[in-house]
Amino acid sequence: MTMGVLRTYQEDLVQQTSRSWRTGHRAPCIVLPCGGGKSVIVAEIARRTTENGKLVLFLVHRKELCDQIRETFRWWGVEMSLCNIMMVQTAARRLSRMKSPALIITDENHHSLAATYKKIYEQFPDAYRVGVTATPVRINGSGLGDVNDDLIVGVSARWLIEHHCLAPYDYYAPSEFDMSGIQTRNGEYDMAEAEKMLSEKCIYGDVIKHYRTYARGAKAVCYCVSIRYSRMMAEAFCDAGIPAAHIDGSTPKSERDRVIAAFRSGEIQVLCNVDLISEGFDVPDCGCAILLRPTKSLTLYIQQAMRCMRYKEGKRAVILDHVGNVRRFGMPDDDREWTLETRQKRAADPFDVLACEKCFYVFPKYGKDGKRATCCPRCLAPLKKQTEEKPPVQEHDPEENTAAELEKVTEVHVVPATPAQCRTMGDLAAYGKARGYKPGWAYYMAKRMGLIHNDRRTSHSE
Ligand SMILES: [Zn+2]
Repeated sequence: MTMGVLRTYQEDLVQQTSRSWRTGHRAPCIVLPCGGGKSVIVAEIARRTTENGKLVLFLVHRKELCDQIRETFRWWGVEMSLCNIMMVQTAARRLSRMKSPALIITDENHHSLAATYKKIYEQFPDAYRVGVTATPVRINGSGLGDVNDDLIVGVSARWLIEHHCLAPYDYYAPSEFDMSGIQTRNGEYDMAEAEKMLSEKCIYGDVIKHYRTYARGAKAVCYCVSIRYSRMMAEAFCDAGIPAAHIDGSTPKSERDRVIAAFRSGEIQVLCNVDLISEGFDVPDCGCAILLRPTKSLTLYIQQAMRCMRYKEGKRAVILDHVGNVRRFGMPDDDREWTLETRQKRAADPFDVLACEKCFYVFPKYGKDGKRATCCPRCLAPLKKQTEEKPPVQEHDPEENTAAELEKVTEVHVVPATPAQCRTMGDLAAYGKARGYKPGWAYYMAKRMGLIHNDRRTSHSE
């Protein structure tokens, strides 16, 4: 018995997933922004599978999430005796004792390159798979083509805002640091160095002042660069008369539950953490995200920034970015196109955002009419003319170029379901690559389909 009803776009994604399997794919990945309801979509897929008496294995990457998902699934009417919700590490250890599932669902699918996931997939080669994520790209920038063979892209964050499924938001960047000296390790900033810099330069009082000015007492989740920093920040808020608390992965469950409950009731106003309150971690509604954790991970940026955008009538979320993440990635609800492939991001691809020097409001450089903004839409302060303006960071700042190179994502290539649906050489190349065909295949097919006529190999370099 189903307890909830899917929204039309959610039902559509469930349908598209079935279609993907029917047309020969084994492992599609559903892409939907944070707040789009990924958990009910997979709950519905699991419900239909268990209804047919088939076994489902649901892989979760953090133990905190297991209980929460189990609750959602139960509420949604999934037959729990046929559904195993497990931490990926636990599943990998128990492989030999596990019955073969008919379906493996991978939550937060962008983690799925990890060897443990692959081990599980390989153990059950006959199982159908489906993954879900808001950002089908790994921290190192690689696409998911090695574990998924189809990308099913749902509605955009902007669409969700326009249709009252996510709250609209205001974005401010009141302070920014030059991150160019910070080293990168495994695709991410060296957090020890970043912490040192933030501790030296980021005045706790400023963070509090801006929170007061812009968030006006809204409940906030504050993402910090380190546990130490997070503790200090919580203390600074408390000293300023704003009740705050810090939690991290090592906080005992009872204490964490107590803090979350106090946050829910409003007894605690600011919840400081590092990355704990990110993926799927269910915290009560909040209206503000404070970013004090610089990142090169688009996934992390989007998850943290959008955490405050749960829809409520009349609500306007506030994002306070003190670490320049918006400069690296653009607005959180920017339309992004995705591909299963790893593509080098064009280094000259600027994120078209401007920040008002007067009120720190961040907004797209070009309005809906395609014209360049001439004044701040919030305080109406005129923007400096382009010639006087500092050159856009993304184009000239060496640090940002490095970031752009590391941030390989974005160019989007949805892999067509069949060769017949390929319209360009790029489609064929993507299709062939996802299937593991030799590079020559796409060329051969393109010629056969009349997509290339001359005899010279059309360049389709990535
Ligand atoms: Zn302004």
